[in-house]
Amino acid sequence: MLENTNHAHQSPPELNTGRFFNDLSDPAFVIDPKTLTICQLNKSALRLKDDINQNNASQFDAEFLTGVSAVDLKAQIAELSSHDRDVVRLEVCHLDFEFDVSLQIMWSSGSEPLLVAIFRDVSARAGVDRKTNELVSTVSHELRSPLTAIKGAMGLILSGAAGDVSVKALQMVEIAQRNADRLILIINDILDLDKIKDGAMVFDNTEIELIETVNDSVEAIVGFRDRFDVQVDVDVQDEGLISNIDPNRIVQVLVNLLSNAIKFSPAGGRVTVQLKLHGQLNRISIIDNGEGIPVSDQKSLFGRFMQVGSKNRAATGGTGLGLSIVKAIVENQGGKISFESQEGVGSTFHVDLPAVVGKVAVKANKSGSD
Ligand code: ADP
Repeated sequence: MLENTNHAHQSPPELNTGRFFNDLSDPAFVIDPKTLTICQLNKSALRLKDDINQNNASQFDAEFLTGVSAVDLKAQIAELSSHDRDVVRLEVCHLDFEFDVSLQIMWSSGSEPLLVAIFRDVSARAGVDRKTNELVSTVSHELRSPLTAIKGAMGLILSGAAGDVSVKALQMVEIAQRNADRLILIINDILDLDKIKDGAMVFDNTEIELIETVNDSVEAIVGFRDRFDVQVDVDVQDEGLISNIDPNRIVQVLVNLLSNAIKFSPAGGRVTVQLKLHGQLNRISIIDNGEGIPVSDQKSLFGRFMQVGSKNRAATGGTGLGLSIVKAIVENQGGKISFESQEGVGSTFHVDLPAVVGKVAVKANKSGSD
């Protein structure tokens, strides 16, 4: 029999989950999507509840459990219920533990759908990741100065300031300099990422209409777009969306997402930047019909040096750090990044930014809006 957290006078919805659910080694919670109360827990979830909620039982609802506000949870439940998404993944911390949480809707015959949250403890992996990142950061820091000196010396040789050099040697120095540029790019990306995470990067926030930021990003990517022969469209579903952001940093985010969408689209393909209200958040979505991301790679996509797919990285100039930086910037701005992708069909990356309260968005006068 499953444990029930509700009081006797309530009649909570119940999922006929069977023994499998109760014996699952990962903590699993069944949540009522309407009230966001937790109505069933398996054995492992009960232990987790005892660990993390020793003092304050009244707090123990879906918001507390997932760290996501009721408004955002409802928006995610709406997407799951309408089959726009199959699963929502969250990173959740409780005490010293870190969890990968998956939220899914379970449909049981004759009753309302219920939300199931399965927690996977990834604390050990997170600890190893942290140590690796620290090492990478230290090494990067130490490498930057000598590398800049090497690049400077090569620049002097190429400019002729170091005397005559054979044509063959010059060609080799040119290749070495291009590779040094690439290394410096990677090192600067790593150090940028650290700065954002440590709160040391300065953000210059201002209230701005997001369409301006979207248009600036699309303009910035024109050369790249033409090189890959991909069309980029802007689709404004709701007008007048305003957020308090650093426009330059959000342009950096959108340019990164757009360049990925373009890189992984076929020649002659189309990428769409969509702007709409999503619950109480402003959502910018970058939609492509490119090669998509294999399911096995999706979980670690925002990790450092993550590169998947078949494209030649040297040709496209990627470092595998772009999405980590994008995520760090968006989260610094109080937003969230998420994506959906299917191999062979395409990918959509969503950037959700807090809307400026009191500024009302207007539904664009066009068909196809939701
Ligand atoms: P890079 O700078 O190498 O592009 P990112 O961190 O931006 O690195 O992206 C990480 C990996 O995610 C890329 O190697 C790419 O394979 C995959 N990826 C990102 N966006 C898309 C997309 N729109 N379509 C397909 N794959 C993508």
